[in-house]
This record gives sequence, C-alpha cells and structure tokens, in this order.
Amino acid sequence: MAQHPMPPQRPNNYHNRQNSMNAQSSASPITRAPHGHHFQPLPNSAFLPLPGYRAPMMVNPNPTRLGLHLVGLRDPMKRLVKQGPDGNDIETDLFTYLDAFIVHPTVVDVDQPIYKWNFSLGDELQKFPHIAHGKETQFSVWTFRPGCRTIRLRCIRLPGNPDTVTEQTWSTAPTFWPSVFYISVNGKELYVRRKVHNGKDLPLDITEHLHAGENNVRLDIILGQDECKTSKFVFGVEAMEVAEFDQILNLIKSVPAADSRAAIKKRLSPITDDDDDDLAVVTDNLTIDLVDPFMARIFDVPARSLHCNHHECFDRDTFIRTRNSTSGQTPMVDNWRCPICKGDARPQFLVVDQFLAEIHAELTRTNRLDGIRAIQIKVDGTWTFKYDTDEISPGPDHPFSAKRKAEDSLGPVAMRPRNDVFNDRRSPAVRTQEHTVIELD
Ligand SMILES: [Zn+2]
Repeated sequence: MAQHPMPPQRPNNYHNRQNSMNAQSSASPITRAPHGHHFQPLPNSAFLPLPGYRAPMMVNPNPTRLGLHLVGLRDPMKRLVKQGPDGNDIETDLFTYLDAFIVHPTVVDVDQPIYKWNFSLGDELQKFPHIAHGKETQFSVWTFRPGCRTIRLRCIRLPGNPDTVTEQTWSTAPTFWPSVFYISVNGKELYVRRKVHNGKDLPLDITEHLHAGENNVRLDIILGQDECKTSKFVFGVEAMEVAEFDQILNLIKSVPAADSRAAIKKRLSPITDDDDDDLAVVTDNLTIDLVDPFMARIFDVPARSLHCNHHECFDRDTFIRTRNSTSGQTPMVDNWRCPICKGDARPQFLVVDQFLAEIHAELTRTNRLDGIRAIQIKVDGTWTFKYDTDEISPGPDHPFSAKRKAEDSLGPVAMRPRNDVFNDRRSPAVRTQEHTVIELD
C-alpha cells in the first residue's frame, strides 16, 4: 500500500460541506460523492463503500480495520534502550514530555490560508532516535535512548477568539485537526491520523522528514465557516524530550516547608479586594487531603505542579511511573496533566512540597500512616489528622453539620476553598475527633 487512496486531511466531504451545514468532518476519507448526485458504482467496486457512506464514529475504533488504507501512517516499532553496565544496550522504560517549541504556537487567522515556517536544526539532529526503515510492509524501527528528541506538529482548538495561547493551555489541550488542510515538511506532503480511525486526533511526528540546516513547514488551510465561528485553531511544532526515570527526578524542585506554610496562611487571610467584599469568608482551618489519587493511600513523596492552585499532592514516583513508555508499537505516552486539577504538570514544573513531606515523616515516625485521609490545619498553627474511620462516626459536632449550621445562619455564601492558617508551632499530633466550626465573617 504505497499510495493512500485519499489523504486524510483532503476535503473528502468538502463538497458535502458546501451543501449541508450538518456535514460532519469525520466522514470517511473515501466518501467522495457530492451530496445530491448519483454516481454509478464502478464495475469492480465490491471493496469500495457506497456513495454517501460515512464511517461511523465508534467508541473504541479499530484502526486496523477502519483505517487500513492509512496503514502507512501507523506508528513505528519502538525500541527503548539505555546503556547497561557492560556497555550493551538494555531495554528500559522511558518518558517523554514537551520541552520546547520549534515553531511557537500560532493562532490561525481565518483570512490567511497559507502559513510557512522556517527553522534551522544543528546539533538537534544528533539527538533524533535512530530510524531503521522496514522493508516493504515491515515496520520501521525507531531506537530511543535517554536524551533523545523527536519533533512533532500539533494543532489544538481554542474556544472564543484568542490571539495567543499560553504554554500551559497548549500542553494540556488535546490535538484537534481542522477538517481540511494540507501539511508539507521540506516539500513532502504528510498526512495526519484522525479521530474517526484512531479514537482521537493524533499528533504528527515529523522527525524523520527533517534535516540539518534550514527546514520548512508549510500549512495550507481551508476553514469552513462553521469551523471558525466560535473557536480558533492553533498550530505549533514541538520538541519532545525523552528521558529516563532518574532524569525526570532531577528536574523536580522543592517548595520549602516555610513557603508552603506561608501559602496556606495567605489562603486563610481575609480577602481585602473590594470586589470580593461580600464574598469574603474567613475560616479558621484548612483541610488538605493526603490520599494519592492513584494509590488510594497517603503519598510517599508529595508532589504537585507549580501551576496547581491546590495544596493537595499526589505521589511523585507513582505519577511519573504511570507516564512510562515501553518498547513496542504503542505510541509514546505524553500525558503530564495533574491528576487533581488537570493542569500542566510536566516534569520541569513538578515540585515536592516539603511541608507535606514533614507531615509524612511525622506520621511515619509515630506510626500513624494507616488509614490517614487528611490533615486539618487550624489558624493557631495546630493540626489535626483525619482518618478514614472519622466518617463513620458522625457526632453532633460533625464538621458538615457544623458547617451547615454556620451557612444556614447567614444564608448562602460563596465559600473560599477549604481553609486554614498554619504557623510553625506544632501541637502534639494526637489522633482526635476534634472538629472545627467554620466561622463566617
Ligand atoms: Zn493540580
């Protein structure tokens, strides 16, 4: 299958789109009949779909069956290796993440149908994975090592009418291809894989089409009217870094315990902004959940992203290890979203919260890790641990009833996040059912 019958980003249903606003961009790439026209089936068309046929959007599409004509676009076979102690390569798990932009994300203007981006590559090329092209129908084999880089093109869709996009938004947005566009890299036309065949639109790896010196990417885009009314497309070229576990760990910084406490204190201070005056709620405690979302128990090393607005942490190593890529045909994993807030939690933004690390150490020292669920920090700097068992014995002074009482007395009030002030004074951390009434200002 040297030739694709129809490039996926070709306007296979373009004529349909002219006649029908309801046309879906997910039409089969081999649906070509203009709406309202009758085509005589070709004499030997047993393997071709009937005119007007559209591939159904499936929950779990099977690319091998639905996208057989796109077999040339399949992922290469990947070998993930590192140098072993004896100098020979050994297979290993590796990780990949967006490290830098080759072409910074560019918002596509509906009135500009052609974009050309030039960039030059030098030493970068030495970092590309080794590519062994397969003979005929065999897989290409890409060998990745720690320190490798790949280059890929992505497009995302942003709601509204933005002029720019932040790196955080870009890195957490899924790939979304416009229905009609053409991409060529150094003069070679490339094709993308779409949701209808693959369950989701997939990034386009352009690594093997790049060379030393000047490179160019050209985008020709035809935006349908319904495609740019409420959203905009953004194209960018990404450099993806490949690293091993220890290299990821080395990227992670620490938030000193004092800084973390200061942040908690700030959270509890009354809002002074005039605009928020009626909403100001002062509470005298802050509850921080200590349970890691993956392990359903307390973290070992508390981590979160610099972009997170919450104090809760997930377990550092579990989070990283669940983003691992392995040898084989499956694509490299690049999902670095915070499991709590879905924000940008790429390795370079991960931090270990030393305050929560101290809490963990304290619990370990006093042998009270089992069943721990949360920590409630009071204004006076003392803290109370909450255990799983707390919920099954709600007393008259249960925190929820107390909270409800306070809210009832003042009517509905917008609450700030669960709050508390902390200072360096530590109470003897005793296991207690003590609860705190939230004071409303
Ligand atoms: Zn987060």
